[in-house]
Amino acid sequence: MSLKTKPRRFVVQQHKARQTHWDFRLQENDKMKSWILPKGPSLNPSVKSFAIETSDHDLKYGNFEGIIDVGLYGAGKVLQWDRGTYRILEGNLNSDIIKFELNGKKLKGKWALVKTKRGWLLIKQKDEHATTSNIVRTAPKSVKSGKKIDDITKRDGFIVKEKDLGWD
Ligand code: MN
Repeated sequence: MSLKTKPRRFVVQQHKARQTHWDFRLQENDKMKSWILPKGPSLNPSVKSFAIETSDHDLKYGNFEGIIDVGLYGAGKVLQWDRGTYRILEGNLNSDIIKFELNGKKLKGKWALVKTKRGWLLIKQKDEHATTSNIVRTAPKSVKSGKKIDDITKRDGFIVKEKDLGWD
C-alpha cells in the first residue's frame, strides 16, 4: 500500500484539565500530530470546529486513559473519547489543508483540517456520516471503558512523570 492510503491510528482524548477540551491526534510514525479542540468535534458540515495545534505526543500516549497527577501540565482526567484508523485523502500532515477519512467508533467518513491565520478548523465533509446531532453531548462515553469523564479514576491509569505524557 502507498503511504497515502495506508491506514494509521487516530485518537480523540477528552481531557478534563483546567478547562475540558478534546485532544485530536493523528499518527505520524511513532508520534501523533495533535490539535486541541476546545468544543470537541462536530458531525455537522456547517460547523467549523476551532482547533489549536499543540506538541506531538508519543504514539503510546494515545492509548492512555486515566489521571494525570497534580503538578504536571495537563493535570486532570483523560478519556478515550474515540479512536480508530485514518487515511490521508489529500495533502499530508504538514499541509495547510489536510483531507482525510476517519474510521472510528464515533467519527467516520471524510474530514478536513484547514489552517487559517488565527488557527486551525476541523470540518466534517458532506457524506453519509454527516449529521446535525451533537456527538459530544449524545456520545460522551469512553470507547475503551464505557465510562464518562467524571467516572475516571487512578485505576484506569495514572501518570506521575512528564515523560510519560510523550512530549519531546
Ligand atoms: Mn489536553
